[in-house]
Amino acid sequence: MSHPQRKAVALVSGGLDSMLAAKVIQEQGVHVEGINFYTGFCVEGHTHAIRRKDQGKEKRNNALWVAEQLGMKLHIVDIVEEYKDVLLNPKHGYGANMNPCLDCKIFMVHKALEWADSHGFDFIITGEVVGQRPMSQRKDTMPVVARESGAMDRLLRPLCAKNLPATLPEREGWVKRDELFDFSGRSRKPQMALAAQFGFTDYATPAGGCCFLTDEAYSRKLVDLWQVRGKRAYELDDIMLLKVGRHLRPRPHFKLIVGREEGENNFLEGYRKQFLHLRPISHPGPLVLIDGAANEDDIRLAARITARYSKGNSAPLVTVQVTDLQGDNRMLEVPPLPPGEIPEAWYL
Ligand code: SF4
Repeated sequence: MSHPQRKAVALVSGGLDSMLAAKVIQEQGVHVEGINFYTGFCVEGHTHAIRRKDQGKEKRNNALWVAEQLGMKLHIVDIVEEYKDVLLNPKHGYGANMNPCLDCKIFMVHKALEWADSHGFDFIITGEVVGQRPMSQRKDTMPVVARESGAMDRLLRPLCAKNLPATLPEREGWVKRDELFDFSGRSRKPQMALAAQFGFTDYATPAGGCCFLTDEAYSRKLVDLWQVRGKRAYELDDIMLLKVGRHLRPRPHFKLIVGREEGENNFLEGYRKQFLHLRPISHPGPLVLIDGAANEDDIRLAARITARYSKGNSAPLVTVQVTDLQGDNRMLEVPPLPPGEIPEAWYL
């Protein structure tokens, strides 16, 4: 009697672990499709390509790249709105920064389960490894993900399955447990060896995590945003802007977002209708957005900071164009603010 080909949906972040997990299951003859969730905080996506520092390196979306390497379909699902509740009210709290990893994993596996059920897929695969991450990938939290997501024993972690109780796909013989793995701990060596075995090179190795919420500086800017607004809430534009530029808060009621290079200036250009903004005219320099209600004194200070980050930073005077929300321009001639007059505390 021939059995129907089983189908699995793999959570794909773009990193090596989820790539290997999907590949291991493909190798067992299961039909695998990938799912990638877009939260707005992802390191992947278009903001990845903004900065020029990686120029020379090919710009790519790693989740798409993984799918291409494995010859599998990838479904990119926008969860920006639903994710707000995960970030703002994590039942299991935050990790070292603003990362609600455990709730995030539970939510993503739950969404993948919904997707699997509505598309006739049998089980879910993740690249999780016991002991790999301090919050969501611990021996005691991995069952929590399976239970609270509702996936229960339809959640298979091929890279560490042998360290865990057998799941439904293993018990039913849809996959061979013998051919799964028993990785554990923080070492990346077993993954790298397996990647070599499959002939994978050039895979992404993001430091820290798959999203900006694990980043200390990013988390600080996010908390600052909430404090200043007096409420914990955000829109997609807010969290995108936190990824770009140098953020300085010289006064409690406004902050500056200073483009650090051409790519960032171009990105910030897209927001110039929503913010009062400045740009040096007499010398090359950054586009600077003012976020907050700035008075004339504040604008002058902002102009001096703009001049400081321009090529005219050692000139006696720099002409800075100030554009208001109506699009009206005026010029200010200001001396650049000396570096010593920009306290560390202004930098977010
Ligand atoms: S690093 Fe970000 S995307 Fe990854 S599990 Fe943690 S909160 Fe979720």
